[in-house]
Amino acid sequence: MKSGNKINPFKTKGYFGDFGGRYVPEMLIPALDELEKAYLDALKDKSFQQEFEHILKTYSGRPTPLYFAENLTKRLKGAKIYLKQEGLGQTGSHKVNNAIGQALLAKRMGKKRLIAETGAGQHGLATATVAAKFGFECEIFMGLTDIKRQRPNVFWMEQLGAKVTPVTTGNMTLKDAVNEALRNWIETLDTTHCLMGSVLSAHPYPVIVRNFQSVIGKEVITQIKQAEGRLPDYLIACVGGGSNSIGLFYPFLDFDNVKMIGVEAGGLGISTGKHSARFAKGKLGMIEGYRSLFLQDKDGRSRETHSVAAGLDYIGIGPEHAYLHSIGRVSYTSATDKEVLEALKLLIKTEGIIPALESSHALVECIKVAPKLGKDKVIVVNVSGRGDKDIFIVAEALKDKEWTEFLRDKIKEADK
Ligand SMILES: *Cc1c(COP(=O)(O)O)cnc(C)c1O
Repeated sequence: MKSGNKINPFKTKGYFGDFGGRYVPEMLIPALDELEKAYLDALKDKSFQQEFEHILKTYSGRPTPLYFAENLTKRLKGAKIYLKQEGLGQTGSHKVNNAIGQALLAKRMGKKRLIAETGAGQHGLATATVAAKFGFECEIFMGLTDIKRQRPNVFWMEQLGAKVTPVTTGNMTLKDAVNEALRNWIETLDTTHCLMGSVLSAHPYPVIVRNFQSVIGKEVITQIKQAEGRLPDYLIACVGGGSNSIGLFYPFLDFDNVKMIGVEAGGLGISTGKHSARFAKGKLGMIEGYRSLFLQDKDGRSRETHSVAAGLDYIGIGPEHAYLHSIGRVSYTSATDKEVLEALKLLIKTEGIIPALESSHALVECIKVAPKLGKDKVIVVNVSGRGDKDIFIVAEALKDKEWTEFLRDKIKEADK
């Protein structure tokens, strides 16, 4: 039953096989060492774990439900489908689990300020949220292009008390925001913790974020045993940087009978080049602090990526995923924007649940797999977030005329 799929990166200088490590400016090494030490220290401190669990429970409503999607199961005429409802937590996605954990670590290190980079703004929002709750100063670095595209998230970050700093270098998007956040961190190490949003960047971030998110998989083990008296046959989750998926997968890694599928953004289709499918088209590289697969051009420069789901629209993949792929423990596939919208509509209509566009990628794969399996099989899909945030994108994609009308009226009102 047990096999060695788990690596302890604290013993391998941060490597998961060939992937991971630390590829950062020399000046950041002491900060990463400090974080590593604080985390290992916290692991030994029972009260740290207790406080983390208490806040997850009272502030974010954990454990999130594992819901038997009976209507969807009947509709697909195959395996039983369970949905892990991460969208019911504070800020509407799994991101807050990690943000709470790192805020507690920052407090432990005596830091007064949190900084983060954000693309679509979801991670910035989670960081600003915990900054408000724990009383940190907060600065979010965001490309000017993204700020213009994502006003609702910027609005809430500002209301939460964060300073949102526009980044005007390069394409003015996520990659540029990452660079700016790191530059700022180097100047402010004494007072500031850089709150990384996914299982990315230099060691020890990938392992710390994974461990905080593993609460998802640990809960599922208890919940599915209660519901079915056994472990599931399949786990399916979407993969951006890889935190919600590894959070679900990790506690199951040594149960060889549990198959796992990660779903990347297929965008407009792999052949168009407009996607974020690192396992389909990525190449080994050292970018943004770690060694992994990245979407790059011939000269090793980051390629433009695309996805209808902003949270999956990223060039790199967390190093532990690259490792799990390399040993064949987890399989990875992709879903196109078009398939994603169909899956989203189906879940809304059959179960009355509005999933995030990111999470809908996992549902696409579930819809493909479930009918091929017998009725005695069990699938758990991680619904990493709820879809409220996506209303602008979805309404436009579904060409909802009344929505356009509504926007026009709002502009008229604002111009009065
Ligand atoms: C950010 C986000 C993701 C992608 O990030 P991972 O680190 O891969 O989990 C997925 N789903 C939602 C709802 C998100 O906000």
